[in-house]
Amino acid sequence: MSCDIAIINGTVLPMAGRPDIDGGVVTITGNSITSVGGSTIDVAGAKKVIDARGCVVMPGFANSHTHVASNLLLRGLLEDVLLFEWLQTMWNLKRNFDHETLYWASLCGDLEMLKAGITSFNEHFDAYDVEPQIDALAEIPLRATLGYGFADRGLYAPRTDYSHRTMARFADIVAEHHDTRDGLLHVALSPHAVYSCGADMWHEVRRLANELKVSIHTHLSEGQQEVAYTTENYGMRPVQWLDSLGFLGPDVTAAHCSSLDPTDIAILARTGTKVAHCPVSNAKLGSGTMPLRAVMAAGITVGLATDGPASHNSSNLFEEMKFAGLIHKTVTEDVEFLKIGEILEMSTARGALAMHRPDTGRLEPGAKADVIAVNLDTAHTQPVYDPRAALVYSSRADDVVHSIVNGRLLMENREVIGVDEERIRHRFHEAAHDLKRRSIG
Ligand SMILES: [Zn+2]
Repeated sequence: MSCDIAIINGTVLPMAGRPDIDGGVVTITGNSITSVGGSTIDVAGAKKVIDARGCVVMPGFANSHTHVASNLLLRGLLEDVLLFEWLQTMWNLKRNFDHETLYWASLCGDLEMLKAGITSFNEHFDAYDVEPQIDALAEIPLRATLGYGFADRGLYAPRTDYSHRTMARFADIVAEHHDTRDGLLHVALSPHAVYSCGADMWHEVRRLANELKVSIHTHLSEGQQEVAYTTENYGMRPVQWLDSLGFLGPDVTAAHCSSLDPTDIAILARTGTKVAHCPVSNAKLGSGTMPLRAVMAAGITVGLATDGPASHNSSNLFEEMKFAGLIHKTVTEDVEFLKIGEILEMSTARGALAMHRPDTGRLEPGAKADVIAVNLDTAHTQPVYDPRAALVYSSRADDVVHSIVNGRLLMENREVIGVDEERIRHRFHEAAHDLKRRSIG
């Protein structure tokens, strides 16, 4: 059978509820998966064969909420401070963002994600320019949904004009970028949060989403300070306020949701709102822990996400998976809750659904060919009785050896093909330190 790429001899984890295949085969033609099965699949006509012996072959990770560029410029700068203090300092840098700096930050962030097995991500731009990331993605073509950020009050008031200008030309932005680069690039609407956007802005975003048929990606109910804000200003909790505006719906990804009461959960379920769960960021910023068991029981689609590298310090879903298992066992005092299979689904198939990318995150014929191979033949994963246990609790991002995005081999044996990694790291380091000097000294 002819195909562009055949991956053989690995343990295939197709995800989306399908069983593992030992010594399995995955074939790819163009940007799509053409077959997934056992060693009887004929690969004699493959243009390239990848021997994945000792590896798990699985869908690339879907990171359903992050802020790569802006946040990478803040990684390690603001430790041990409260969320709102953190946002204030962040703004001192954000005021000085320029295309060049954001470009190198984006490129370094994309490189980090690729090397950690993340093949698709849902980017929330906190009301700064998206173009540098579009340029960076031309160099490292991950699957990305780029949420143009909007805000008009509080700390974000200086971005009001930018937000309105961008919303006014959003039809043009959709025409220019949405579903381009062979489907890799999507655009979305990203109002920042209930404390940084007024009611008019939420109404306008909802109108644009309905008209232009693009998804929405926002922050929602991220801790008690936010709950206190809407209770004081609108007499309601954040989820309930957005619902009262008619904003929520199945096209919305709500990141965090770390403070939810039973009414909030019922609203998210009724409206079909998707949730991006960021347990590491929530723990680090003291934003609480999502009542995940109740959220899952209500049938809400939940993806796992890193949030930005300023509040997580790495774009690494292996760390996120392990931490998710630990924190939910701790808060529920139930070691049987949040099983390894569920955690992996939240990082792949369900994560892709949570970011409105149903065509990735799973290995099946017709799905987009976003595939990684993770080496389990390491001292820190042996003896590997169960590849799922190894992936969630023992594997490291550096164990990802091959990565294919949209049918293109971007990393082979940990070498990112055609990319000068040292130059990216060096240019980003220089740009970041220069930005810090001119912003906060
Ligand atoms: Zn965020």
